[in-house]
Amino acid sequence: MTEKLFYKDQYIRRFKASVISCEGGGKNFEVILDKTAFYPEGGGQPGDRGFIGGAKVTDTIEKNGEIIHICAGAVSGEVECEIDWDFRFLNMQRHTGEHIFSGILHSLTGFDNVGFHMGEDAVTVDFNGSVDPSILSETEKRSNETVWANIPVETIYPADGELKNYDYRSKKEINGQVRLIRIGGADLCACCGTHTAFTGEVGVIKAVAMMNYKQGVRITLKIGAQALADYAEKNENAARISASLCAKTGETADAVEKLKEKLEKEHFALYELKNKYFALKCEGADPGLPLVFDDSGNADDARLLASCLAEKFGRGFAFSGCDADGYKYAAVSKDGDIREFGKKINAALNGRGGGKPDIVMGSVSAPKPEILRFFTAPDSD
Ligand SMILES: [Zn+2]
Repeated sequence: MTEKLFYKDQYIRRFKASVISCEGGGKNFEVILDKTAFYPEGGGQPGDRGFIGGAKVTDTIEKNGEIIHICAGAVSGEVECEIDWDFRFLNMQRHTGEHIFSGILHSLTGFDNVGFHMGEDAVTVDFNGSVDPSILSETEKRSNETVWANIPVETIYPADGELKNYDYRSKKEINGQVRLIRIGGADLCACCGTHTAFTGEVGVIKAVAMMNYKQGVRITLKIGAQALADYAEKNENAARISASLCAKTGETADAVEKLKEKLEKEHFALYELKNKYFALKCEGADPGLPLVFDDSGNADDARLLASCLAEKFGRGFAFSGCDADGYKYAAVSKDGDIREFGKKINAALNGRGGGKPDIVMGSVSAPKPEILRFFTAPDSD
């Protein structure tokens, strides 16, 4: 049985160990050591990474009670080992932060943490009840106060029969020795993970999102180094938005609202202008062949133009686009089913599309002269 150094001292980054076994090949050697500081995936916390005897460790898992280091190369004998400390310390910050947050939310609502995931970018915690946004911010506030109080994170191994004296959170029934993590009055929870020695090391706990999930909610947390990285990213984005809007960073939301209003007004004005322009364009159309071309390549423009022609002449055909990219078309009829004619357009002009008795829309890939020929040929209608 491998000696678990991470339970003796969670701050061990480098250590010497003996290789008990090394099996596998290629990039996946499964290495067992006589002792290890590598934490194996469990309790929502990812397995440690690092190096063993110069071979890269990509993951650490527990299988049939053994701690297996997944190594990219073979190792043997006495080896120097080093864990990826940035990754591990982040996980200690995140794990401790999650305890504080879940414990405080539990005390405020009675809801349990029923799912916990430490992802690459964030921590998510699922609770079995819906949480009011005001409770969420109160939880966040109290969580950070617990962090700043810099109180010890204690590990307790209750003796036989003593466990019943503790009122602790636990996700599942535990067989054998129970390991409790106590964080002052904020939380008491059964856990096998690694945590910081003091709450101050967590840095900061920020709830960035909450969504309905199953019978409750899923809350996304940014904790410790990840919270700082998130702040840096948001700050950079805010600065860019601020510069392009010529607004102070604290006033960008108002500036965007104003910009949106302005855009909506301009869209409406453009729509009005377009309708006037299309009406003028249709004025000059040949009543014998109510067909117009437009170069926007927009299917909606083709529909508006064809409808405008049909209002005047009973029927209307519009093609929008260019010879190189093809045309979007619309055929509108006020007197009779136009769908058969739509099929003819598709067949003759290498097109596709369909519609209802009064309107057919689609696209063709044929040049303008060919389209004109189709409409002016005696057998086309
Ligand atoms: Zn834990």
